Amino acid sequence: TPGTEKTFFGHPRGMATLFMTEMWERFSWYGMRGILVLYLIAGVLDGPLAGREALAASIYGVYNAVVYMAAMPGGWVADRLWGARKAVLVGGIVIAAGHFTLAIPADVAFFCGLGLIAIGTGLLKPNISAMVGGLYEGQPSARRDAGFTLFYMAINIGGMAAPLVVGYLGENVNWHLGFGVAGVGMTLAVIQYVLGGRHLGDIGKEPGTPASPEEKRAALRKVALWGGIAVVALVADLALGTYDIEHIVNVLAVLGIVVPIVYFVAMYRNPALAKSDKPKIQAFAWFFATAVLFWMIYDQSGSLLTIFADTKTDRMIGGWEFPASWYQSVNPAMVIVLAPIFAALWVKLARRDREPSTPMKFALAMLLIGGSFGIMGLAGAAAANSDTGKVTVFWLLSVYLVQTLGEMCLSPVGLSLSTKLAPKQFVGQIMGLWFLATATGNALNGWTTKLNAPLGDAVYYTMWAVIAVAAGLVFMVAGRKIRALMGDVR
Ligand code: GLN
Repeated sequence: TPGTEKTFFGHPRGMATLFMTEMWERFSWYGMRGILVLYLIAGVLDGPLAGREALAASIYGVYNAVVYMAAMPGGWVADRLWGARKAVLVGGIVIAAGHFTLAIPADVAFFCGLGLIAIGTGLLKPNISAMVGGLYEGQPSARRDAGFTLFYMAINIGGMAAPLVVGYLGENVNWHLGFGVAGVGMTLAVIQYVLGGRHLGDIGKEPGTPASPEEKRAALRKVALWGGIAVVALVADLALGTYDIEHIVNVLAVLGIVVPIVYFVAMYRNPALAKSDKPKIQAFAWFFATAVLFWMIYDQSGSLLTIFADTKTDRMIGGWEFPASWYQSVNPAMVIVLAPIFAALWVKLARRDREPSTPMKFALAMLLIGGSFGIMGLAGAAAANSDTGKVTVFWLLSVYLVQTLGEMCLSPVGLSLSTKLAPKQFVGQIMGLWFLATATGNALNGWTTKLNAPLGDAVYYTMWAVIAVAAGLVFMVAGRKIRALMGDVR
């Protein structure tokens, strides 16, 4: 019963369990992701360096999109078959198995390992987020937001430590040791999740709307059909000798657009959806579209901005050049500092009845991400005009700071919002949709980042700045309408 249990930083004790699980899951994910491109270039791909780099970047983008796309079926499995509790457990075990598979030094093990991690993350990530929401059932909206801020810190503690530990071991000692360490982290998380399960009460024990046997069969048929089509197409492409990674990039980009549309329409028409919940789905569609654009811009830091970091920033400190990959710890470190400040800020503003509404926060996020790419455009111009072709690290640090400020207005807010707007029987799937926004953004990136080379840094980044700011202004104007759709949700 509430009140009799110890709390975790003033939050329900079950938060500690979910906090630790997510921290290690993100440690393993960001650790693996941090060395993925480097390992592909050094150890898996053949051919000249430039070709390997381009291919590695494509595989990286495709893989990100696949992993985040897997959150949709992952949410469905929790809502309709297993309940979130079991989905997270199975997901964690599959992820750990994936990292241990990567630890085996063989190419085929490498691709199997990536597949396992995608499946496991699809099962774990949306459903653990939904369970966090479950801890705050019936509690005030601001408290739920604060809970998600704490959870967001877990994500970023894992995300900050990972490149340092896994990156160091992978790059300097042995790639496979790096992958193996990520697996150990995930295993610890699973053990801890099982032991800490008693603090979670009944959360996620049952599926929201269990699927009937016919529905299960129909779902299985659909999976077999589409999976079969994908495999046949791929095999034919390979057999004809026409295969190119571009084909997968294109298919994913199209899926990234089609899947959310189909899903929104299906959910909207679902007879299980109460009439009164329909406007909430409409409101969610607005947030979704904005989030796609946000992540589309934001996630270029893993690709284009990292290449900029590598080739166009001066990383010398007293005669020693720090690795470009260390930039990957900058954003999580900033989040750890900024998340509690933002949480306190919202509470303080709320007390004076001046907390910005969720649509307003999303609009702010777009203005900030636009601002960050505005700075990036200036950095590009500065690099182009410098004698050495390089600029100081402070350019990228300011870009990341402004980007992180934007992230604080959108990402934890969006997680919390998704659990609030979701009709209870759809919570896993709405969470899946939230992560699908990241997948769609990354999938579309496969196309748009190609403009960087022909346009040049200054024009390319300024173009994104203008688009983002325009989107932010539109969202601000539409804010009142969106708030009306949200009903009692704040
Ligand atoms: N960095 C956050 C995480 O790993 C947000 C990722 C996202 O939603 N795109 O959870």
